[in-house]
Amino acid sequence: MSREMSTKEVAFVKNNLEKEVDGATLIACYESLVQIRFKRTDYRQLVLSIQFPKEYPDSVLLLEAKSKTIADELLAGIIKVTEEHLQTFKGKPQIVAAARFVRDFIWENRFVVCSEELSYIKKELVNVGDVIKVKQKLGVIQLKAVRNKYNLECKLTVPDNYPGEAVSFVVNSNFPSHLEKVFVGHATEMARQCVEPPILKKKSQAMEFVPKPSLKCVSSYLVEDCLRKYPTERCPCCKKPVLPEEPLTELPPSMAVELVYCGHLYHYDCLDLLMKSPPFGEAKKCLNCGKRIFHEKWNVSAKLMEERWAHQEARKREIDEVTDFLGL
Ligand SMILES: [Zn+2]
Ligand SMILES: [Zn+2]
Repeated sequence: MSREMSTKEVAFVKNNLEKEVDGATLIACYESLVQIRFKRTDYRQLVLSIQFPKEYPDSVLLLEAKSKTIADELLAGIIKVTEEHLQTFKGKPQIVAAARFVRDFIWENRFVVCSEELSYIKKELVNVGDVIKVKQKLGVIQLKAVRNKYNLECKLTVPDNYPGEAVSFVVNSNFPSHLEKVFVGHATEMARQCVEPPILKKKSQAMEFVPKPSLKCVSSYLVEDCLRKYPTERCPCCKKPVLPEEPLTELPPSMAVELVYCGHLYHYDCLDLLMKSPPFGEAKKCLNCGKRIFHEKWNVSAKLMEERWAHQEARKREIDEVTDFLGL
């Protein structure tokens, strides 16, 4: 190692690095070790450790990256591309060049903190026939997935402060429009729960809340649980397909459908019949999964339901009696 050169470089780095590289903070600066912290947000941050190799500057710096929020696989990738970048700096000082390169990577890539989620979307969620476009700098993922004649397009945006702030999204599909609204409402709620603590009585519990990543859960709900599932789902009551084979954004009343709390889809008429017959209240279970059914459209108290049903039955009996009396 050219001793003189590294001494000079360490001195230069000590005095100039933070001026030269915006967003870099020098933690340690010795000939044995240089450490730099890069912090774009609470999540997009890492510490780069640098050592001089024996043959420096004729070989590239020895680099190591550590972060609590960035996946190890991606950290290894960042080091690899930085080392490649440094190849052109052989024979010259390399620390500032390395720092600039790492800094730009962290600053310009919003997917740094969700590389595993993004790779899940690319590898697991997208099937043959689907289309995915990723815009790194903007943090945008455009996904168009198909199932039979149904399709669902979503544009997901990873915010700068992700995962502290949830992913935002826009959905466009050829599902019945009111069903699409339910999908979007549910996904919005999932995303909100990832970043907002539940309302708790004790303040101490709220302190422990840590935002969770929302990209994977929102995208897999929309694609796996909605698009891939509903086009072939059968009504738990009549066992016929719930949605028409040919997509319609507005369903005629006779084909209307309703989604219940557990996520199962019913024909409106079938569900109406089910909700208006006993058992009522807590005992009302989804015919498919056995979870309790509630739906705001049938949000009348169990007691009232029971009374109504008893009244209807009584009327039926009355009519039966009358018909008997008339001998019809
Ligand atoms: Zn049905
Ligand atoms: Zn169910």
